[in-house]
Amino acid sequence: MGKVSSKKLYEFRRTLEELAEKKGRGTELVSVYIPPDRQISDVTKHMREELSQSANIKSKQTRKNVQSAIEVIMQRLKLFPRPPENGLVMFVGMIPRGGPGTEKMETYVFEPPEPIKTYIYHCNSEFYLEPLKEMLEEKEIYGLAVLDRKEATIALLKGKRIEILKTLTSGVPGKHKAGGQSQRRFDRLIELAAHEFLKRIGEHMNEAFLSIPDLKGIIIGGPGHTKEDFVKGDYLHHEVKKKIITTVDTSYTGEFGIREVIDKSMDVLTEIDVMREKKLVQKFLTELIDKDGLAAYGEDEVRNYLQMGAVEVLLLSEDIKAKRAKYECPSCGYKMDVTVKGDEPRPCPKCNDQMKMVDSRDLVDDLVEIAEAAGSEVEIISTETEEGIQLLKAFGGIGAILRYRP
Ligand code: ZN
Repeated sequence: MGKVSSKKLYEFRRTLEELAEKKGRGTELVSVYIPPDRQISDVTKHMREELSQSANIKSKQTRKNVQSAIEVIMQRLKLFPRPPENGLVMFVGMIPRGGPGTEKMETYVFEPPEPIKTYIYHCNSEFYLEPLKEMLEEKEIYGLAVLDRKEATIALLKGKRIEILKTLTSGVPGKHKAGGQSQRRFDRLIELAAHEFLKRIGEHMNEAFLSIPDLKGIIIGGPGHTKEDFVKGDYLHHEVKKKIITTVDTSYTGEFGIREVIDKSMDVLTEIDVMREKKLVQKFLTELIDKDGLAAYGEDEVRNYLQMGAVEVLLLSEDIKAKRAKYECPSCGYKMDVTVKGDEPRPCPKCNDQMKMVDSRDLVDDLVEIAEAAGSEVEIISTETEEGIQLLKAFGGIGAILRYRP
């Protein structure tokens, strides 16, 4: 995971997790997906139709809630003369906080990280999140190619989906027995044709892969040694070449070959992310053991170092579940920022009255913002490795590798 994309990915994943937890009492949570090329006026028109349709809903409570949700959507749509670049998603509905009567209207409106392809209106007891989940998967794109002297196929792996971009054939004939002078001439022609074919493959791969700046890596497969000749030779743009992760032997070319490449390199792909995370946490631990080492942990200490600009890399576990909240005392007006797990009440340190939470946000967002302002790198660490679990369990999920010891 890169530093910027891992943060955005984290935020998006967290939003999806939050939305997935919301359950309505009835089939009354409304989800709307608006593609970028859809006219807002068309959506408003559709909402008006849904509003009149909803008059047929039998349960009085559900009917009322669906109608309120649609009205909120129509209100919100007025804020958009047109959809943003990637379109717009809207999730609106009454969410119970406890027993009956505790429902509150919740509204989530945002632009997704990838363009929305299909217009969707969906009403159920849960929000409809599938298209967003797919986007999350598609964030990880790999380039694939499988080739020999006869055929080459170029493809993308987007999450779990394969997209075949191009299949090329060479027309290079197989070895041929002619004997003597003409055999040598014939062999030279074959070599030349093979070279031309590799050049063509290279051009197509450059074209396909240079246009994807986020491409995480490239894997090249094929039967025989042509793929090695291709990788060693001067066929690829240097930016494309440096993204090659590995080559794998396959029995086939074509789409079958592409599938073989994926099967054989799945472990490699997971390993790359995992190794990177392991290395970072190990570096942190090594620094920590050294008494003059450049490491810090725990929220207060790390926050302090972040604000001083002393943090080189901020390590945050993806499983930190805490909020940074602003509390205010209704009696004396005393204010303070605290990190909390839920919305537990706090006594005022001045007058001992019950303080109120007036604002809160994800602790990770809070720390990332300070880190970015100070020019520190941010790495979100999964709990898929022993090191990641250690970061979470032993250090509260917050660690830092320092630039210097203040
Ligand atoms: Zn007070």
